[in-house]
Amino acid sequence: MANNDPKAKKPRQIDVLDPQDDSVIDQVPRHTAQEMHEAVGRAAHATERATRMPVHERMRVLRDAADYVENHRQDFVETIAREGVKTINEARSEVARAIWTLRLSADETRRIVGNTIAFDQRPGSENRFGYSRRIPVGVIGAITPFNDPLNLVCHKVGPAIAGGNTVIVKPHSATPLSALKLAEAFEYAGVEEGILQVITGDGSDAGDALVTDERVRMISFTGGRKTGTKIIQRGGLKKYGMELGSNSPTIVMDDADLEQAIPMIVGGAIAAAGQNCLHVQRLLLHESIYERARDMFAEAMSRIRYGDKRSEDTDMGPLIDRAAADRVEQGIREALDAGARCLTGGERDGNFLAPTVLENVPDTAEVAVEEVFGPVTCVSPFRDEDEAIARANAVDYGLQAGIFTSNVDTAFRIADALECGGVMINDSSDYRLDAMPFGGVKGSGIGREGVGYVLNEMTEPKVYCFNIRFPRGWT
Ligand code: NAD
Repeated sequence: MANNDPKAKKPRQIDVLDPQDDSVIDQVPRHTAQEMHEAVGRAAHATERATRMPVHERMRVLRDAADYVENHRQDFVETIAREGVKTINEARSEVARAIWTLRLSADETRRIVGNTIAFDQRPGSENRFGYSRRIPVGVIGAITPFNDPLNLVCHKVGPAIAGGNTVIVKPHSATPLSALKLAEAFEYAGVEEGILQVITGDGSDAGDALVTDERVRMISFTGGRKTGTKIIQRGGLKKYGMELGSNSPTIVMDDADLEQAIPMIVGGAIAAAGQNCLHVQRLLLHESIYERARDMFAEAMSRIRYGDKRSEDTDMGPLIDRAAADRVEQGIREALDAGARCLTGGERDGNFLAPTVLENVPDTAEVAVEEVFGPVTCVSPFRDEDEAIARANAVDYGLQAGIFTSNVDTAFRIADALECGGVMINDSSDYRLDAMPFGGVKGSGIGREGVGYVLNEMTEPKVYCFNIRFPRGWT
């Protein structure tokens, strides 16, 4: 019988489940806070070795790890498609991106440069000459979510090693296997002991120990806003990279090519069954095309095939667990009770939810203001550009947005006015290149990922200033 007492001792192992049928596929250690502190000790001990690793050696390690993932591609694909929410096709694309992210990290390593400083800009400093170089932060704690269990880990591990840091990954307990496999790739690449560790365990225990350990100089976190806020409160004085959630809008103007736009919007609405920080949650349609675009979208969503993740014919997988499916179902129900209309979807089967399109959703409903993190999209009409912008900006998130229009002036004006980290023109909010700066404003986070950009966060400038004693009479 299940023990629901929160104080009850938890088993030493965490069961890793396949979310589509809750079958146990593996077990990983439930490391304790004490064990996490010991891991931090090993990482702190290894920082000098990591710092002294020459650039060519960091590049070699990253390239060899990428080659390992490439040579074991199928294994990584199946791991993601078993432990995670992605279909086999989505898992293939994630593995390809992960290899790219590691190679990009190798490339960026040689671009970690400082700059010379014009000390002679201040009278009296004419004799000074100097420069800055970028030095590693030290021990980095990388805390990752379940939705991209490999590539988002690469986005932290690759730049951390490129920057000469040591890194401890605390993967999500639902999807730890991809991160553990990535550690095998780095072991194959010959990364020295203590430079990379993957420590599995509960967020509130092992994760909290990583956050609160003063030897950890930076927390690079991707996950929910509530968890991110708690981490900053608990962690105190250290650096933070916060990649949080969103409630992304995609705006369709009256001059958009709907035949092109609708399939792209559907793709962004169902990727990872909506468990995607760039998920098209709010679809804003110009009133003159509202009915046609809405019907095209709802019809395309109703044709999405969801089910067995490992089938080549499946478009969309399940939610990560029953609690997540309960939460999203509850959000839909609450919106319907408040007057929303369901155009398609709404059905639930175990951890699966049908792609769901809602209209007439009150602005105060949870699915309108908060991140839904499920396959639910709210459609609504707008009168003009100003209203589209106001509605898009009306939430306390701002990761990315999409705009469809054939008028470049319109695109520029709206893109300029949107409060977010990136605007995709003639695409949905759901596009990311791993090399671009990626992150949000408002409640969507702090800082930017994207390999070259996060490398800046994972290193710090150190200034070297020479007070040169010139010989008398030297000019
Ligand atoms: P989550 O916040 O539940 O968990 C994320 C990680 O934090 C997990 O590893 C978890 O174990 C750990 N954690 C939980 N409590 C902790 C604590 N007290 N101390 C330390 N660690 C703790 O998030 P999730 O459900 O895995 O992921 C979904 C969220 O991630 C969504 O909001 C999504 O939008 C966001 N996300 C953002 C991006 C981005 O790049 N902006 C990308 C992917 C996902």
